[in-house]
Amino acid sequence: MSDEENAAARAGKYNPGLMQQERRTVSLSISNEGQNVTLEERLRNAGLRPTRQRIALADLLFASGDRHVSAEALHEEAQHAGFSVSLATVYNTLHQFTEAGMLRIVQVEGARTYFDTNVSDHHHFFFEEDETVFDIPSRGVEVRNLPEPPEGMEIANVDIVVRLRRKRH
Ligand SMILES: [Zn+2]
Repeated sequence: MSDEENAAARAGKYNPGLMQQERRTVSLSISNEGQNVTLEERLRNAGLRPTRQRIALADLLFASGDRHVSAEALHEEAQHAGFSVSLATVYNTLHQFTEAGMLRIVQVEGARTYFDTNVSDHHHFFFEEDETVFDIPSRGVEVRNLPEPPEGMEIANVDIVVRLRRKRH
């Protein structure tokens, strides 16, 4: 949301989605005040202004442990939660969270991007049948004989995606 939209929202002049957003924010702060404060602080600590949209999306992302979610899936969750937000905004917010170090991207195929709430170094299984990504338990992979990086460069990290399918009998 732009600053102008935010100002309009505060002044009560925002779009028809406003009432839904207000309700959700209010219920969040009543039912789960402690967590809401934590999310706000977390956003501030990451250098992001804790707007209503960012807080609501962060709540969906971080409320239930480590997960791997696509922008489309999070957009659907937001709609089911009665939170009116466009897919483009979800996508932008996920990238802002990633740039701020709150998420990491797991790229499975060219067009398929998952956002991982676990930002530590780890590897992934990809189950092709239902397109889910999940963590390989730590120490489940040992990478050896990595190539020497070219002059003046260093290896930033190594992402391994192990693709799974059902056994064929
Ligand atoms: Zn992961």
